Amino acid sequence: MNITVVGTGYVGLVSGTCFAETGNNVTCVDNNTEKVAKLQRGELTIYEPGLETIFERNTKQGRLHFTTDLATAINSAKIIFLALPTPPGEDGSADLSYVLGVAEQLGKLMTEYKVIVDKSTVPVGTAEKVHAAIAKNATVEFDVVSNPEFLREGVAVEDFLKPDRVVVGTNSARAKEILQRLYEPYVRQGNPIIFMDERSAELTKYAGNSYLAMRISFMNEIANLCEIVGADVDNVRKGIGSDKRIGPRFLFPGVGYGGSCFPKDVQALGKTAKEYHYDFRILEAVMGVNYKQRYVLADKIKSFYGDSLKGKRIAIWGLAFKPNTDDVREAPAIYTIEELLKGGAEVVAYDPEGMENIARIFGDRIKLVEDQYEALKGADALAILTEWSVFRTPDLDKMAQTMNAKIIFDGRNLYSLDTLKENGWYYNSIGRATVVG
Ligand code: NAD
Repeated sequence: MNITVVGTGYVGLVSGTCFAETGNNVTCVDNNTEKVAKLQRGELTIYEPGLETIFERNTKQGRLHFTTDLATAINSAKIIFLALPTPPGEDGSADLSYVLGVAEQLGKLMTEYKVIVDKSTVPVGTAEKVHAAIAKNATVEFDVVSNPEFLREGVAVEDFLKPDRVVVGTNSARAKEILQRLYEPYVRQGNPIIFMDERSAELTKYAGNSYLAMRISFMNEIANLCEIVGADVDNVRKGIGSDKRIGPRFLFPGVGYGGSCFPKDVQALGKTAKEYHYDFRILEAVMGVNYKQRYVLADKIKSFYGDSLKGKRIAIWGLAFKPNTDDVREAPAIYTIEELLKGGAEVVAYDPEGMENIARIFGDRIKLVEDQYEALKGADALAILTEWSVFRTPDLDKMAQTMNAKIIFDGRNLYSLDTLKENGWYYNSIGRATVVG
């Protein structure tokens, strides 16, 4: 099948490449000329495990193309995916200007029947708006389908090639048959393609992300309470996670959820509820808890040093909002670093993939180094903000020799309390006793 993907970011590039991998002929469009030039040269624009191999294979075999020219890109395409940004507007609702802007253009350009598929995360009712925007100028038949994307950054390729499920919102039999054929190779193990109406599909994506965000905020509240009452959140987590009704995933406390999806999607769902005059109280609590939690580690550091951080050098391990991605959008590291700088600290940071992106935010206000141990040189304390595997079993002796003091503030609970105690560290984590070695 000939497929066009409009918007070649995290979702567009992964989707386009994975569609090519099953034999489709894919053209990815982006209006960022620099990005397209890089991809045309065969260079990836994002870090995502496993992407490079299939990107190289499919570009070499001529099934994956990149362009800035929407008109030629859609010419022979049967399906056009919209993987465009839907960032929060000023009032928190999803900004649909990218999606609707491209939809209007498509109406002018289409010369035969096409299926236009919303892959962006969009509020209930967007498929109807996209339909209207295309219809303004269209002279041919078309269908608009809602097909929210559930891939997770860091495991995006795996998620896309073997999805738990594919959700397709459409009332058109013609579009349903085309999408069924496209997705069949990805669900050969029997995972379902769930067909439903457009509005339900749109809401499914927000409900899923908001539910996961709620689990995180709930566990963060439990962790904070554990610290007050003298319980250990790791024990509580294992205790409830082994209950089949709850399950073990998404129960890890930390420094709040971040990334380009959870914060904006919870906010946008809240906004949708408000628009329909529904008082969705849990969402307000989820957001409020997360707002507070992003500052938990910085607050611990500040109170440890008696509020002023002047003359203190704090090393940071982890900048990306989660491991295995270079994405720092809404990363807890941003909020923590900002607080540390405000307090007067000097910040030296390391992340395996996120440094280029964080440098765009902080410039020379922080120092970035190429090695996790180099970040520790002369540091008064280490703050851990992302649970990259490489931070999990560090050389504690080397750390002790490199740092000014044996002090760790861990926002991801990476280490055992006993080990740190035996080795004489001060170790302050989330929802557990503070070790004073
Ligand atoms: P992104 O910012 O990485 O990518 C969007 C791309 O669209 C950019 O490359 C941008 O240059 C391009 N673009 C903007 N306007 C354009 C135009 N007029 N024509 C062509 N290209 C244009 O965003 P993303 O993370 O890929 O997210 C895209 C959508 O998918 C969002 O709605 C997001 O909520 C949703 N989503 C994201 C993830 C994720 O993990 N990143 C997962 C599921 C769903």
